[in-house]
Amino acid sequence: MILIVGGAGYIGSHVNKVLNRNGYKTIVLDNLVYGHREAVKWGRFIKGDIADSALLDKIFKENKIDAVMHFSAFAYVGESVQDPAKYYINNVVNTVNLLEAMRRDGVSNFIFSSTCATFGEVEKMPIVETLPQNPINPYGRTKLMVERILEDYRVAYGMNYCVLRYFNAAGADPEAEIGELHNPETHLIPLILDVAAGKREHISVFGDDYPTPDGTCIRDYIHIFDLASAHILAMEHIIKNKCSDNFNLGNGKGYSVKDVIKATAEITGRKISVQIQGRRAGDPPELVGSSEKAYNILGWKPEFDLNRIIETAWKWHQKVQDGKAFKS
Ligand code: UDP
Repeated sequence: MILIVGGAGYIGSHVNKVLNRNGYKTIVLDNLVYGHREAVKWGRFIKGDIADSALLDKIFKENKIDAVMHFSAFAYVGESVQDPAKYYINNVVNTVNLLEAMRRDGVSNFIFSSTCATFGEVEKMPIVETLPQNPINPYGRTKLMVERILEDYRVAYGMNYCVLRYFNAAGADPEAEIGELHNPETHLIPLILDVAAGKREHISVFGDDYPTPDGTCIRDYIHIFDLASAHILAMEHIIKNKCSDNFNLGNGKGYSVKDVIKATAEITGRKISVQIQGRRAGDPPELVGSSEKAYNILGWKPEFDLNRIIETAWKWHQKVQDGKAFKS
C-alpha cells in the first residue's frame, strides 16, 4: 500500500492514477486546501492534514504502508516571498511531522517532490544532479531544507528516500479524466489555453529581453505522466536496492515562451494575442534539466514531447470549459 500525501493536487492525482494502473493500492491523504476531491478517482481517500500526528499514526498503524509519496506542499514562488512563514510551516515543519510519524511507526521509504528551483541561477545547461544548489526564493529553500533533512534522517535513522526534482510539470491525463486546475492559475500553458478558448484576451509574456535566442525565457516542460512513471521507478529502485537517491526530471530540451505560444496556436488552431510585459521577479533566463542519471539508473525516458503535452492539456482544458471536469 502506498500513501500519497497531497494526492488530490495536480501532480499527486496523476501519480495516483498511474500507480493504480500499475497494480499498486493507494491511500490518498489530502486536506483539500488546494486539491480537488473529484481528482481522487482511484484508491481510498482520507481528508486530513500532515500536521495531524494522531491521524498519521492511525493511518500507519491500520495499514501496511510500503512507501509514502509526498506532494502536499505550497508551490507559489511569489507568495513564498510575501509570506515565507506559510511556506516554512507547511513545507518544512509539517514534512518533519510526517517523517516523525513514519519513524515512530516504522515506515521507511519516502518519495519527495522537489524542484529545479533548489538550484537557483545556473549558467550551464542542462542541469545535472551534482551542481551546487543555491535557491533564490523561500519556496526553493523549503524544498532544499527537506532534501537536507532527508539526508540526515538517512544517516541517523536509516530512512530510505528518493528526491525527485521536477522541471516544468505540464500536460494532463491523455484520457482527460483528471488534469490541471489551479486557483489562481499562474502557469504558462493553461494561461495560453485560456486565450485560445476565448476566456482571456491575451497572454502576457514576462520579458523579451533575456539573453536567449528570441529574448524570452527557456523552460523544460515535462509531461505529468512522465513524472508519474518516474515516481514509480524511483520507489521501486529505493525499495529493491534499500538505498536513497536523487534525480532531476526534465526532458533535456528547452522551449522559449514564444515557442510554447506558437506550438499552442498551431495545435488549437486559434489565434493567440500576445502582450509583451516586463520581467517577472525571480525568473532565471533558462532552466533545462538533464535526464541522463534517471535514464542510466532508473531506465526512465520521457515519452511526451511539447506537442503531446499541449494536446493533452487542451483536451482537458476544453472539458473544464464545457463544465464537464471537476469543480475548482
Ligand atoms: N510566463 C509568461 N507569462 C505568463 C506565465 C508565465 O511569460 O503568464 C513565463 C514565465 O516567465 C516563465 C515561463 O513562462 O519563463 C514558465 O512559467 P510558469 O509560471 O509556467 O512556470 P515556472 O517556470 O515559473 O515554474
